[in-house]
Amino acid sequence: ELPEADGDFYGQMDTLTAEEREVAHTTRRFMHEHVAPIMNEYWSRDEFPRQLIPELRKLDLLRKIWNEDGSRKPNATVMEGLVTLEACKVDVSTAVFFGVHAGLAFASIALGGSDEQKAEWLPKMMDLEAIGAFGLTEPEGGSQVSQGMRTTCKRDGDGWTLRGQKKWIGNSTFSDMTVIWARDVDTQEVRGFIVRAGTPGYNVEKIEGKIALRIVENGLITLDDCRVPDSDRLQNVQGWRTTAEVLKLTRAGVAWQGVGCAMGAYELAVTYSQEREQFGKRIGEFQLIQNHLVHMLGNVTSMFALCLRLSHMADGGDMKDEHAALAKVFTAARCRETVAFAREAFGGNGILLEYGVAKHFADTEAIYSYEGTNEINTLVVGRAITGLSAFV
Ligand code: FAD
Repeated sequence: ELPEADGDFYGQMDTLTAEEREVAHTTRRFMHEHVAPIMNEYWSRDEFPRQLIPELRKLDLLRKIWNEDGSRKPNATVMEGLVTLEACKVDVSTAVFFGVHAGLAFASIALGGSDEQKAEWLPKMMDLEAIGAFGLTEPEGGSQVSQGMRTTCKRDGDGWTLRGQKKWIGNSTFSDMTVIWARDVDTQEVRGFIVRAGTPGYNVEKIEGKIALRIVENGLITLDDCRVPDSDRLQNVQGWRTTAEVLKLTRAGVAWQGVGCAMGAYELAVTYSQEREQFGKRIGEFQLIQNHLVHMLGNVTSMFALCLRLSHMADGGDMKDEHAALAKVFTAARCRETVAFAREAFGGNGILLEYGVAKHFADTEAIYSYEGTNEINTLVVGRAITGLSAFV
């Protein structure tokens, strides 16, 4: 009897509370019952399976993270991390759909919205009755967006006129609203807006042909003299500081994506190595294969420990930008290495969708580049430890 593949080698799940373990378990069951059977089909179709939304609603996951008034549960970041971990073990795209809605979009309203805006949006977002998206990146660049934001807003009577483009915006092809970040042409301040689907001048084109995260739908948004009432301007946004605060929270979630993606790939590789035979032996009997598996397990174990500590720091109010950035840098790079070993262990089958590992291999490339590329997050940490900024 061979041991079952288990990426939690040090039993780190056992250090969590019963409620936290329950959330991890519920997410795991959901992924196996509802996502795993259809994910390859939707990957091939380059489409998000909207029928998952009512099933996901039944889990009531947002209420494990947020309170209805926009404050966070005491262990919100650990909960978010566990949902992300379990989702990514099976499919990173599902975690991204959830992270964009329950992280980026929800947090923008929770941190930047007035009491009225929170009362209007947060309960229905918690119930997945309204789906959110988050529009920050622009075609001319994501890394420089804090300094070089080209999308503008101009006060115009009782409302605002938005002009510009936003690229890569997850969920935006079907979201009920998208948070749009824009620079005020008169004051140069960054402002946030809730732009409702169907608003004239707000156009979304689906980005086709991605080689990673094909189950997430990303849009290119064009704001063509798009009129938004002042009541849909996020009333408590303090310029870029609020945007950065949202990104700090969600960056911890992206660090967890690396853990889940790597752990899923590791477990697939262990199982395959116990079954696949070459030269009359299971490939897991070869020392070179064992060496790769152990290397992968070391990565996964250290990434998991790092992210648990990061989440506890976040929930205790001690997480700084550079803490989230280091975790993202570390897990994205280790994930890339781990999934490459896993894919290799599958030989030719490693590039076939049906064996699972190819999807992890592809998705890692998106993890590596979004929520601050590896270079940008490295420079954030570099600035913190030297006191010297490499940014202009
Ligand atoms: P660029 O900024 O053009 O960078 C190109 C290269 O130059 C990178 O390697 C970068 O590290 C490097 N570079 C840039 N500046 C420096 C420097 N100072 N020093 C060293 N190297 C540097 N955005 C949203 O707003 N909402 C979303 O929902 C969203 N979802 C996404 C989903 C996917 C699948 C992807 C791929 C992206 C998504 N993004 C989203 C955008 C993402 O955040 C950006 O892609 C990311 O910030 C990088 O920006 P860029 O692609 O424009 O690359």
